Amino acid sequence: MSGAGRPASTLRLVLGDQLSPALSALSGLDPARDVVLMAEAMEECSYVPHHPRKIALVLAAMRHFAAELTATGVRVDYVRLEDPANSGSLVGELGRAIGRHRPARVVMTEPGEWRLRQAFAVLGIEVREDDRFLCSHAAFAAWAGGRRALRMEFFYRAMRRRSGLLMEGAHPAGGRWNFDAENRKRLPARIAVPPVPRYTPDAITAEVLALVARRFGHHFGRLEGFSMPVTRVEAEAAFADFLRTRLASFGAWQDAMSIRSPFLFHSLLSSALNLGLLDPGALCRGAEAAWRDGAAPLAAVEGFVRQILGWREFVRGVYWRSMPGYGRENALAAHRPLPAFYWTGETEMACMARVIRETRDHGYSHHIQRLMITGNFALLVGIDPYLVHVWYMAVYADAYEWVEMPNTIGMALFADGGIMG
Ligand code: FAD
Repeated sequence: MSGAGRPASTLRLVLGDQLSPALSALSGLDPARDVVLMAEAMEECSYVPHHPRKIALVLAAMRHFAAELTATGVRVDYVRLEDPANSGSLVGELGRAIGRHRPARVVMTEPGEWRLRQAFAVLGIEVREDDRFLCSHAAFAAWAGGRRALRMEFFYRAMRRRSGLLMEGAHPAGGRWNFDAENRKRLPARIAVPPVPRYTPDAITAEVLALVARRFGHHFGRLEGFSMPVTRVEAEAAFADFLRTRLASFGAWQDAMSIRSPFLFHSLLSSALNLGLLDPGALCRGAEAAWRDGAAPLAAVEGFVRQILGWREFVRGVYWRSMPGYGRENALAAHRPLPAFYWTGETEMACMARVIRETRDHGYSHHIQRLMITGNFALLVGIDPYLVHVWYMAVYADAYEWVEMPNTIGMALFADGGIMG
């Protein structure tokens, strides 16, 4: 997959969570003259001790995406983690690739993390906006503008009006913006929870799994049994399965917890969505279509759309508005160290032990477990928010700073003094 040889007109850098064919960095690509650079960097795999499943997911998805681009005739220069000359950093790999290809210009899509944005900003390359979100930076700034407090509910209503999702003219479908009252049901003693689809690793993924076991097997987290979607086709199949088997029940039990299932009726789509394998607008429209077709009640669909159109876009806006200092906010002056059992699950507190062990086994917990168990314990005990943030960044397969940090620092720990809510 190396594209070295004749000089490239444009070198297009694609990061590990930018695996979308419609990525702004790929817009205007000339297959005859341009080169796409993708690099696996040790620095990115190890700046926190990421869960082995998370590393495997990102690397497997990157390799599949590179193969898909290559199959369409694009020249991809792909640097593997264990290439002997790999410098270990993304900036280092960009520098080496510029030497190899001597491009007339370099283009990338803005990184989703402040640290990387700063690292690339000083290089004088063309950084394009990431337009895979439903709310641009300018639109969020215009909405947040003069407001003293940011309320997700008002942001969400503005997004519903702007997108037309679940709207009937100027009014919310069903006459209400929010169906939370219907969405807080107690889980019945007997309820069948559909199995979560599993995707058998192919040769590309199997090779990555062996690499991750070798290099990152000592990190917290179980790699065996990896079956996450790593391609767009698999991610879309996972969404179709959610629409068919779980969406109708998503709303009623979205705030429930049960020892009978770590997943309940959640979508498990965040990992694929945050990598760029799925498009947030398409997920919202797909769920809306299920309601209009009579396949799911409005309360369930509204609950799902609110998470993506509302919360996901809102936390991103809060992140970029609050950086670079956000990660060090500590409004409640909490300074305790993170207890060692966060990395083992060895505690007599049954709920904590269960959620931490499920996290170890799956690289996943649903929202209420993250917020009300591991998050709430850290809040009550007064654990240093930055240490809690590092833990969440490391242990969940869907964790990227723009989405993890506001949820941890803001929503779970109130360390931002109420910016998030
Ligand atoms: P579902 O319950 O099926 O929800 C559907 C989708 O809505 C999710 O896939 C996700 O994309 C979106 N969503 C729902 N809630 C939120 C939210 N609060 N913020 C942003 N998007 C949301 N989500 C991440 O994607 N990455 C993280 O690193 C992350 N860290 C979190 C840390 C804490 C302390 C808390 C309280 C929440 C965190 N969340 C994070 C939000 C939420 O818990 C996960 O998005 C969700 O559990 C993912 O599982 P799912 O795909 O089954 O979600």
